[in-house]
Amino acid sequence: MEKLDTGVQFIKGVGEERAKAFLKLGIVTLRDLVMNFPRAYDDRTAVRDISHLQFGEKCCVSATVAAPPRLSRIRKGLDITKAVVVDAAGRMTVTFFNQSYVKNALIPGESYIFFGLVGGRIGAPEMTNPVFEKETNLPVTTRRIVPVYRMTAGLTQRAMMNAVRQGLEACGEELPERLPREVRERYHLAQTRFSYENIHFPRDLESLELARRRLIFEELFVLSCTLSFMRTRQLKKSPYRVKNVDMGDFYRALPFALTGAQRRAVDDILRDMAGDAPMSRLVQGDVGSGKTAVAAAAAFAAVRAGYQAAFMAPTEILAEQHFKSLSALLEPLGIRVALLTGGLTLKTKRETQAALKNGEADLVIGTHALISGSVEFRKLALIIADEQHRFGVQQRAALTDKGDTPHVLVMSATPIPRTLALIVYGDLDVSVINELPPGRQTIDTFLVGENMRQRIYNFIRRLASEGRQVFIVCPAVEETEESPDGLKSVKEYAKELSEKVFPDLRVALVHGKMKAKEKNDVMEAFTAGNIHILVATTVIEVGVDVPNAALMVVENADRFGLSQLHQLRGRVGRGAHKSYCVLFEGGGGEVARERMRAFCKTNDGFKIAEEDLKLRGPGDFFGSRQSGLPDMQIASFASDMDMLKTAQSAARELLDADPELRRPENAVLRESVERLLEKNKGTFN
Ligand code: ADP
Ligand code: MG
Repeated sequence: MEKLDTGVQFIKGVGEERAKAFLKLGIVTLRDLVMNFPRAYDDRTAVRDISHLQFGEKCCVSATVAAPPRLSRIRKGLDITKAVVVDAAGRMTVTFFNQSYVKNALIPGESYIFFGLVGGRIGAPEMTNPVFEKETNLPVTTRRIVPVYRMTAGLTQRAMMNAVRQGLEACGEELPERLPREVRERYHLAQTRFSYENIHFPRDLESLELARRRLIFEELFVLSCTLSFMRTRQLKKSPYRVKNVDMGDFYRALPFALTGAQRRAVDDILRDMAGDAPMSRLVQGDVGSGKTAVAAAAAFAAVRAGYQAAFMAPTEILAEQHFKSLSALLEPLGIRVALLTGGLTLKTKRETQAALKNGEADLVIGTHALISGSVEFRKLALIIADEQHRFGVQQRAALTDKGDTPHVLVMSATPIPRTLALIVYGDLDVSVINELPPGRQTIDTFLVGENMRQRIYNFIRRLASEGRQVFIVCPAVEETEESPDGLKSVKEYAKELSEKVFPDLRVALVHGKMKAKEKNDVMEAFTAGNIHILVATTVIEVGVDVPNAALMVVENADRFGLSQLHQLRGRVGRGAHKSYCVLFEGGGGEVARERMRAFCKTNDGFKIAEEDLKLRGPGDFFGSRQSGLPDMQIASFASDMDMLKTAQSAARELLDADPELRRPENAVLRESVERLLEKNKGTFN
């Protein structure tokens, strides 16, 4: 067995108890230990003479203990140890609370280095609870940059440092050089041993930077290799050829002509599905660019070729909406369209499931209910996922498993940087719809304060009298939920609006906690134009398409991310009417206001997404936990994008030359790749 695989409990000072604490941090072996990189560093390099101490500064002082420390018990649970230390020209008091061991640890006449925050009075400096150690040539906790590790009960920074130190000594020689030599040289990357040493115990800031750079590169490189490697292994053939389908019926049935960009996306899809390999394509198009029609074309082609297709939407409202518009379009062409959501009665669900299994339904539209174990298909050839970034990778994989390597089409309004897309989706092709259907007008967006409320209400009334409809979105559902600070809650607010502000208009309410049927009834009434004002939570955020709606009002707008606001704004301006978006500030401060001002000035989803990525990092960008991004030890998908690009191209080059990593010089890398695959079984697919 390699030393790196030895358990941490074999390290001196780590017994069974400590091993349990390490386990809580996910550290089992020496490998885990040395790869548990510090989360921060404490720069303790400054050393001062006592006579030059600056109050409020953190620094080291090298001094001799002048007299035996005095220990006094103040009361039960509180004791204080004080000592006076001196250097050539000054004296300083060091005070320790509840560290009675110091009384014997500091020996009069011996020199120590103390590190701490300088306090006390002028002429009488003090340090409280300083870190100290004997003056030696190899300082551990003073006079250097000290690592700060993630902690858990039962561990101390010191214990962690000791363990890491020993871990490095024990397996320093074994630390794998995973980067091929040419790669390391070409990108000027530090050596393994140096990097591990300096990431934990940096000699100076420059060495730390070199170490970080190498380790970040290495991590992203191994990740990129793993993804490419998987791809080579997975190049299966698709059993479903969708070939020579006459699209004429479809185009004639569409109530509009596709835009050039939509047409190109459809062509890409048809070409993919006619080929040997299963399609894996992302259609990226801003809100309102008409992705649904593209999806419909794909489904039409798959069904005409004799197969089934499944269309997965992130919410029930959206599934219902797609079901209605797609059945209206496709049923007349002889395509049997079904709906499957969690909200349907058991009986209906059973019937639909039976129809899918025996092939009596051609296209099914649904929510994650489609993933449920009891859903089976007869010949599922195409999976379409709408607003993909809201699905977890597991969910996507579960749906893919329902067919025999089906074609996969993913649609998103969120412009994901290609580098990240590669990681989240694997190697997928991208079609961009960079053109809006004709006749669209820009949506005028305004940021307003409370003082404008009456005017906005007047504006709503005017639009309603012109026959338009209005959305009002609030962040919370109930008054109690999270709204002590004046957040608008939908329930209360809808009541107030319908009873006091607009008693003459029809106001309705929709939120995620309502029953499916209720939600559906409200959406139907709104779509039919029977409701003037729809008060809602973000359940209406994605996809909802009501062309007559001309105003989107967002309450407490700073509660939402910019991409989310862009999605919300995309609910209006879908028809021929001049449309508006009004953001009520929620008192989120100047930064929030600045962001929203920038938002008001652009309708460009790509720009907004970039801004969001910068501000909030990719986790939020993709919907937090479900992001599908693997956990990284040191690299960050937010700040190391440039490095990611470099690592990806280096990985691609290497795999082009050695696709299966069979060459002996790539053996270590291959092993890491295998390990990463094993660890992320559920994440990569
Ligand atoms: P998204 O890309 O946000 O999903 P949708 O597919 O919901 O957009 O389309 C938005 C609206 O634009 C819908 O009302 C749809 O019918 C309409 N639409 C789509 N494509 C065209 C087109 N080529 N010409 C005119 N209207 C279109
Ligand atoms: Mg859509």
